Amino acid sequence: MNPMLKVEGISKTYGAFVAVQDVSFEVNTGELVAIIGPNGAGKSTCFNMLSGQHHPSAGRVWLEGRDITRAKPREIWRMGVGRTFQIAATYHSMTVVENVEMALLSRERRLYHMWKPASAFCRDEALSLLDSIGMAGQAHRPCSELAYGDIKRLELAIALANRPRLLLMDEPAAGMGPRERNELMALTKRLVTERDMAVLFTEHSMDVVFAYADRTVVLARGKLIAEGTPPQVRANPRVQEVYFGS
Ligand code: ADP
Ligand code: MG
Repeated sequence: MNPMLKVEGISKTYGAFVAVQDVSFEVNTGELVAIIGPNGAGKSTCFNMLSGQHHPSAGRVWLEGRDITRAKPREIWRMGVGRTFQIAATYHSMTVVENVEMALLSRERRLYHMWKPASAFCRDEALSLLDSIGMAGQAHRPCSELAYGDIKRLELAIALANRPRLLLMDEPAAGMGPRERNELMALTKRLVTERDMAVLFTEHSMDVVFAYADRTVVLARGKLIAEGTPPQVRANPRVQEVYFGS
C-alpha cells in the first residue's frame, strides 16, 4: 500500500543558496510526525513544497501514490491535504461558530455571498466539530475575545472542516506557554486517531516533540540528519551536536 505522503529527495535552491537538500521521508495514516530543527533548518521551506506554495527544485512528492510535485495549492487542498493558517484579522469580529461555518461552506464550494442563508445548513456540523475539540462552550463568542491558545484550537477546527487526510501544521505551538502547548498537542494526537488521518508538524523545540510525536525527522542546514522515534532521535550524536553543541 502507498504511504499517505512520500517525499523523495526534494531540494529547494534560492539562487546559489540551498535551503533544502535531498530530503526524503514518509508519513503514514494514524501517525503524528514532527519535523524538527533549529531556525533556518528548512522546515517551513519543506512545508511550502508539500502544500504547493513552492515547487521543489529537484525531487518528487507523492500523496497516496499520486505525484503532486507540481500541483497547485488549491489542487493539493482538494486532494485532502490541510494546512493551518492564522485566522485573518477581518474574521476576528465573527463568532467562533461562524468561522467554522465559513470553512465548511468553502469545502462545499458555496460562494461567500451564500454564506448567510447557507449557514443554517451547516450550523450543526460546525457545532459538532467545535464539540470534538472542546470549544462548544465558546461557539457564540466573537474571536476577538478568545485567549491565544483557543485561537490556535479554532485554526485547527477550521483546517479540519475540509476533512483532510493529511494535516500540515507549521510551528503550531509557537508563542504558547507549556500548558496551552500540551493541550494543543494532546488534542492533535487524539484527532489523528479519531479521524483516521495523519499530521505532520514542525517545531524547533525538542521538548514539545518528545511527548507526542510518533516519529521525528530532524533537519539541520537543509539536510535530513536523523529520523526515528523521539528516543532514537534524542540519542543520535548528530542531533546532540546540533541541539546541544556536544
Ligand atoms: P525554518 O522554517 O526551519 O526556520 P526556513 O525553511 O524558513 O527555515 O528557511 C530555511 C533557509 O532558507 C533560511 O536560511 C532562509 O533564510 C532561507 N529562505 C527561505 N525562504 C527563502 C526565500 N524565499 N529566498 C531566499 N532564502 C530563503
Ligand atoms: Mg519555519
